[in-house]
Amino acid sequence: MVTWSPSVTLVPTHACFNACSYCGFRHAPAAGDPLAGALTDTAAAHQLAAAPQASEVLLLSGEVAPSSPHRQRWFARLLSLSRLALRHGRLPHTNAGPLSWREMAALGRLNPSMGLMLEGLGPAYDALHRHAPSKTEALRLSQLEQAGRLGLPFTTGLLLGVGETAAERRSALAWLADLQRRFGHLQEVILQPWRPANEPARPLDPPACDALLDTIAEARALLPPEVHLQLPPNLWPLPRLVEALEAGIDDLGGIDTRDVINPAYPQPTPVVLAEHLERQGWRLRPRLCVHDAWLPWLAPPLRRQAARQLRRWAHERGWRC
Ligand code: SF4
Repeated sequence: MVTWSPSVTLVPTHACFNACSYCGFRHAPAAGDPLAGALTDTAAAHQLAAAPQASEVLLLSGEVAPSSPHRQRWFARLLSLSRLALRHGRLPHTNAGPLSWREMAALGRLNPSMGLMLEGLGPAYDALHRHAPSKTEALRLSQLEQAGRLGLPFTTGLLLGVGETAAERRSALAWLADLQRRFGHLQEVILQPWRPANEPARPLDPPACDALLDTIAEARALLPPEVHLQLPPNLWPLPRLVEALEAGIDDLGGIDTRDVINPAYPQPTPVVLAEHLERQGWRLRPRLCVHDAWLPWLAPPLRRQAARQLRRWAHERGWRC
């Protein structure tokens, strides 16, 4: 079986004070007010209404510097959009960059799961983040530890194919495995092939696929078995998807109709994926943004909301609860 999360992505703001060299998502912040044009609750409610199938609301945001006088207003938008998602019966999953302890704790009370990519360890990543003060390696590592100390079900991942070595991939996976043994909060690790931004789609070539299959197998061997391994299906050739599953992938992540990070790579529809996989003996099943094993970690209101969605699916699909 392989899982996916029916998802809709809300972008509070594309404005970001970082400038990661691979990013095609960022807009330069407007002078004076970096939050000019930020997503309002009204506009977000329209997007939710247009995606009734989405149980997960992925809040993916550009960042405002911790020292900025606009930080509090930016953070209030994240809280407000999380509450809006819950009011609409959905489950928010926020990925908005490094957060203070208090910010992460406050969002964790409204988000059943949250995320931050480790991306990787080593000089290739340092070069990508040369103009991104909040993406230093030390900060990324400490954020993942902070989520563990707060007991938040968490998603992280590696960005692969940016010039890192096989040994650096291995050491990032080994660090995540050690983190999981300490805190147990890593519900999934995304193995994301890097694709160039602002260019027409360029499918992964066979050697890159082969190297990624080795990394998937290595991740499966190194990470504790409860950690799900995720591959974005729009960044991987469909004819080779089963090879990735056989190597250790068991999740295809949140699937919306578009990928706001890699807009040149349209998502295959769940129907296309399910039919392709069924022909090869695999079953595709929806999941919540928080994987089942971490449901007991949630505060009662979030657990009840998650349980309602699971009951809805059980009713529609004849599952046994
Ligand atoms: S922090 Fe995120 S949004 Fe900002 S530049 Fe880097 S990748 Fe882009």
